[in-house]
Amino acid sequence: MKWACASCTLRWPAAAFIHDGLADSICALCRTHQISGPDFANPASQLFAQGTGLTYGGGDQTTGTPLAFTKAARRQAEGLADSYAAAPPAVRQALPAAAFADQLWTMLQTPPAAWPSGDLPTVLAAWGYPVQQLFDQNTLDLTTRQYIRETYHHVCQYCGRYGNSVDHMNPVSISADNTIANLTLACAECNQLKGDMPYTEFVRIDAATAPLKTDLCRLEKVQRTFKAQVTSLQAQLAALTHQAADPAAPGANVLRQQIKMAQDLLDQAKSDSKHISAQRAAYVHSQWAVAQYQEETRTWE
Ligand SMILES: [Zn+2]
Ligand SMILES: [Zn+2]
Repeated sequence: MKWACASCTLRWPAAAFIHDGLADSICALCRTHQISGPDFANPASQLFAQGTGLTYGGGDQTTGTPLAFTKAARRQAEGLADSYAAAPPAVRQALPAAAFADQLWTMLQTPPAAWPSGDLPTVLAAWGYPVQQLFDQNTLDLTTRQYIRETYHHVCQYCGRYGNSVDHMNPVSISADNTIANLTLACAECNQLKGDMPYTEFVRIDAATAPLKTDLCRLEKVQRTFKAQVTSLQAQLAALTHQAADPAAPGANVLRQQIKMAQDLLDQAKSDSKHISAQRAAYVHSQWAVAQYQEETRTWE
């Protein structure tokens, strides 16, 4: 849900209006640039304040001067703010939120015809922040991600379980390589375990955990089976008690017992795989530490 700011007229997420127990009439951007909430009326936040018990921070009448934009200009400015919010962390590190807000604010004070056009990287470059490269790093478009997921049939290429994370084989922080050849599919666990390790190192070290991964795959199947069983039994129970309009309908307790049994087995399988995952992680981390230590001592020879 977005509200329109009564001062800059841009639409922002509700959070931009809420501060210090107030639902304000103006957005955070205006607030941090010496605009006063009580000078502007904002029926949307007033209504919201009434509904939530927050204090309304705006006025009943607008005495300040709202910025006047065409719809297209407003969209352009909102688009920049949205893109910035979704930009890779490296971009937001190079240009912190407060600095971005100042740039945006300055831009809003000039006629839209003078605004730099183009996407966020282009605009940031025009503002004196040439950060295009930071956008390219680690940002894969949806088509590429989908392509990788389908190529590997949603199977983690490291452990064989269900995978949905597109993984840079050689971390982009080292290789800056976004090509398909450097991409593979991983499960969340392997993706995290591999971290910033180079591909060959990770695969070499992780090869020794093959028996653990076999168990993890088996337990994943077991979990899937019991989960389906619990769901189906719960549906049966719901149908039965609903039909009889009686939670103690004949057969209901048997179903409840079966649900509990399946749930217990599911929990057991979950805790088993958690335990095995921890063993695997401990092994990989220790071997990686050894490899790095050897690398370091070699440097000193
Ligand atoms: Zn505003
Ligand atoms: Zn995996």
